[in-house]
Amino acid sequence: MLYTRSSQLFAEASEVLPGGVNSPVRAFKSVGGTPIFAKEAKGAYLYDEDGNRLIDYINSWGPMLLGHAYEPVVTAVIEKAKKGTSFGMPTELETEIAKLALSMVPGIEKIRFVNSGTEACMSAVRLARGFTNRDKIIKFAGCYHGHSDSFLIQAGSGAITFGAPNSPGVTQGTAKDTLLARYNDLDNVRSLFEANKNEIAAIIIEPVAGNMGCVPPQEGFLKGLRALCDEHGALLIFDEVMTGFRLSKGGAQELFGINADIVTFGKVIGGGLPVGAFAARNEIMNYLAPLGPVYQAGTLSGNPLAMAAGLAMLQDINTNEGLFERLEQKTAYLEKGIRKQLEKAGVVFTINRVGSMISVHFDERPVVDFDTAKNGDNESFKKFFHGLLQEGIYIAPSAYETWFITDALTYEDLDFTIAAVGKVAATL
Ligand SMILES: *Cc1c(COP(=O)(O)O)cnc(C)c1O
Repeated sequence: MLYTRSSQLFAEASEVLPGGVNSPVRAFKSVGGTPIFAKEAKGAYLYDEDGNRLIDYINSWGPMLLGHAYEPVVTAVIEKAKKGTSFGMPTELETEIAKLALSMVPGIEKIRFVNSGTEACMSAVRLARGFTNRDKIIKFAGCYHGHSDSFLIQAGSGAITFGAPNSPGVTQGTAKDTLLARYNDLDNVRSLFEANKNEIAAIIIEPVAGNMGCVPPQEGFLKGLRALCDEHGALLIFDEVMTGFRLSKGGAQELFGINADIVTFGKVIGGGLPVGAFAARNEIMNYLAPLGPVYQAGTLSGNPLAMAAGLAMLQDINTNEGLFERLEQKTAYLEKGIRKQLEKAGVVFTINRVGSMISVHFDERPVVDFDTAKNGDNESFKKFFHGLLQEGIYIAPSAYETWFITDALTYEDLDFTIAAVGKVAATL
């Protein structure tokens, strides 16, 4: 496949956009080469500016659970746009999507909509600090919660891909309030609580980590965090920006049967438009302005187009018979096929998977935290990435990213992908 027009467009973009992109994860910095420019997309396929068709395993980094240009979502946005694109006033639509989200996700009574996952996580932490009257938070190495200052400490995928785990520009003052723990290491968290008695406002965690590849929580880990938070009067924040409405209707909370105190959303909840949200029980949410003292606002929050897309998406997910079983089966099928091909080629690897989140690591040791995620062989990954791209398969251009499976994929697509993996594996 040729990518000449994409390369030209990238050169042009690089003149006016830093690195030619508006989000660093889109650049091909860690794999080499130049990014592919998208022209349009439908279902499981992307069509690029060179006229290539690519089977898409990124799906806008998660949102397109039901495929690109999903008819109900597209129609809802078009119809809404005709009636005005923003009012700066409340609309009935916001109540409608709120009611639906609250009915799908366990343990939450009120929700606030924002414009991105970053905003949701940033606001959730502020709310937790206001509610507990404490300053410190615990985050896990390799977890990503958006690009807000407090979180850019060993922040996983995007940040680590570019070799800047701790971003310049984040002050010492901010960084000192973020305590870093090892994923899947309960003793580590326990000792942080012991060393910072009555100072920790919250733990924020991806209940299934998806920004250091896919790293599932080990048996008892999330439950242990819940108990530690209860024991020490801290709040447990589940960052479900990736897992929300993807792992089940109720996200990771429902999947693992563990309730967090605050839950954040993004990606799927907007159906491909910029939406984030955070939610909790009334006691906590009532701390938020205008009811309570913790300030948070947004000119375009609850934007009618974004809410229309999100509502159409959630309505579909809520009534889509067998959706999560299909996603599980398709992804399990893909996993099995990739395993077989890599084994056949004698490639050293580990595959992690939870539901429709899956990642391939080029290392035989189990990947359970950030340190083990970093063990993967990036040279193999680069070849793997470019090999698949030549076959018309688009996975994330970083070894630290999860593949996001969409229900729009057919078994023919999966078979094609598995065969391509076989071809590429033979060259590794
Ligand atoms: C993508 C992501 C975010 C940030 O969301 P944006 O919409 O990119 O700001 C936060 N947390 C997790 C777990 C994510 O995957």
